[in-house]
Amino acid sequence: MKYYDKLIFELSKEGRKGYSLPRNTWGRSLEELPQGLRRSSGPCLPQVSEPDVVRHYTNLSQMNFGVDSGFYPLGSCTMKYNPKINEEIASMQEFSGLHPLQPASSVQGALMLYRDLARALSEITGMAGFTLAPFAGAHGELTGLMIIRSYHNSRGDFRRTRIIVPDSAHGTNPASAAVCGLEVVQVKSNSAGLVDVADLKPLLDDTVAGIMMTNPNTLGLFEKDIKEIASLVHECGGLLYYDGANMNPLLGTVRPGDMGFDVMHLNLHKTFSTPHGGGGPGAGPVGVAAHLVPHLPVPRVCEGEDGAFHVDYGQCAGDTSCGRVSGFMGNFGVLLRAYSYVLALGKQNIKMAGPLAVLGANYIKESLKDCFRLPVEGVCKHEFVFDGLADQSSGVTTLDIAKRLLDYGYHAPTIYFPLLFHQSIMIEPTETESKETLDGFIEVMRRIAGEAVADPQILKSAPHGTPVRRLDEVTAARRPVLTYRALADAGLAAGR
Ligand SMILES: *Cc1c(COP(=O)(O)O)cnc(C)c1O
Repeated sequence: MKYYDKLIFELSKEGRKGYSLPRNTWGRSLEELPQGLRRSSGPCLPQVSEPDVVRHYTNLSQMNFGVDSGFYPLGSCTMKYNPKINEEIASMQEFSGLHPLQPASSVQGALMLYRDLARALSEITGMAGFTLAPFAGAHGELTGLMIIRSYHNSRGDFRRTRIIVPDSAHGTNPASAAVCGLEVVQVKSNSAGLVDVADLKPLLDDTVAGIMMTNPNTLGLFEKDIKEIASLVHECGGLLYYDGANMNPLLGTVRPGDMGFDVMHLNLHKTFSTPHGGGGPGAGPVGVAAHLVPHLPVPRVCEGEDGAFHVDYGQCAGDTSCGRVSGFMGNFGVLLRAYSYVLALGKQNIKMAGPLAVLGANYIKESLKDCFRLPVEGVCKHEFVFDGLADQSSGVTTLDIAKRLLDYGYHAPTIYFPLLFHQSIMIEPTETESKETLDGFIEVMRRIAGEAVADPQILKSAPHGTPVRRLDEVTAARRPVLTYRALADAGLAAGR
């Protein structure tokens, strides 16, 4: 019997304990505490032994699915395997013990690392300079847009309040633009899934601050007209923003700077090795072309003539930075992992990452396109989108397929995104998976397509072997039960 077949949260037994407090060495009696600060009754905590606690949490952890337990083909937000050496380095006491308010003279190594990582990212992306301050991709977008606004304003060009965003963009793009006070104008995709240049042209005038693009775009397609788009936008005085959250497929092959982009962000937690399930932690460094370097946020790391590093807060008159975007210098632990990742791979191997990710995605796509509907043909980059089963007469949906995959030990891909299709399944294998792993996934996907014909009911009622069966997602969203106590109140504590 598996742990979750008898999942019981109420383990508490009066008088049982799993701790022993140190003797009171305070030298004074606790009675000396003012009456108002003393509690009148003990804390309401479960009374359990140490093995109870260890087993409870270990068992719970095994009910989860992670990239360390199996294949995780999640498209749109690269979720790749993160080498453990980077974790080891990030947890070194010499780094984790640093305090952000230490004097610069005592953290010269950390500042040098900061400078060197910014340089490495500049070289990888073809940009002139980087800030490592933003805490997430969306935060990087906001920072990049602030830089664009700062640039236009510094030229007295105050009319540029509109930003163009393709209809296939990641949802954070229009959201960040709105937070930055810009008006979002949508440009359509053409039938090939690329930005429609004919639709773009009439939108361009002297009120356009710029365009935000992802290349490869959300469909995993390379925007072939990027040179033309860049010159059209630049001719009207706008700037090009590159959403590099999914830089993975381009690593070592193409650089946004060479494509004509002026500003971009990277998601270090996606491409550069930080585990980020469950919403964090992250870092969204922003790179800029040479003409925008003066608009990068503060603080900045600078190297003095004596070779010593110091931190510049932009106090000097005439500082043209777009301001501050974070409390200190960014999420240093994530920066460390990225630095370690870049150095561990080295120039030669980083060049392999992108092409391998692209090869894996195309291999799966070509191996499955007779069973699943492929709305956009052709070579994809890191990810691709199926629009449900090729034969949808059984009524089996993308949701059913995703749930059934869990029974076979695979994490479900991103589903119902992008919104361009009704039954989207978005698959991204990443570069670290072996051919055997990809073959295993392909075989299961083909088996599921077969089940849809032979026994659709088994898909409709999937998953069958997971700790929690198919959830009522509407009720889960409307009446969430998020704590143990709420669970007990709902009378659910003693069973599933
Ligand atoms: C993940 C992602 C983002 C947002 O990044 P966060 O770190 O989650 O804020 C933006 N754009 C694209 C294309 C992404 O995949």
